[in-house]
Amino acid sequence: MTVTTGSCLCGDVRLELRGEPRFVAHCHCANCRKAHGAGFVTFAGYAEEALSIVDPCGRLACFTQSDTGSTRRFCSRCGTQLLFAGERWAGEVHVAVAALDAVPGMPTVHAYADRAPQWCPITDELPQYGGPEGNAPL
Ligand SMILES: [Zn+2]
Ligand SMILES: [Zn+2]
Repeated sequence: MTVTTGSCLCGDVRLELRGEPRFVAHCHCANCRKAHGAGFVTFAGYAEEALSIVDPCGRLACFTQSDTGSTRRFCSRCGTQLLFAGERWAGEVHVAVAALDAVPGMPTVHAYADRAPQWCPITDELPQYGGPEGNAPL
């Protein structure tokens, strides 16, 4: 089975993912943009059981967003955003591809494409989804 590893910037939190992701997608929503401090975020979606977290120093912190209830887990030492989870994706964890050591799969879609900011437009040919839930064909 494929095992994909990853870590935060300082290396205190390490991730191990078994098997293939269910999807790899770019997210252009404003929440991801702010949380990651980036124009968009690329996630690989895995079943929760695929993920093992190695965190011997207890660095992994969690931010729960009050209006959506979604959670973002990040390293409290170096600030790297690592994991997203939300009610809409029960049983699933979305892993920041930027933190992985290898490519889990190429991105196939843009979510919340209609929220992409002017300063970071989408310039490739991948299918774009948007609307209130970010998943309606545009
Ligand atoms: Zn760290
Ligand atoms: Zn997002």
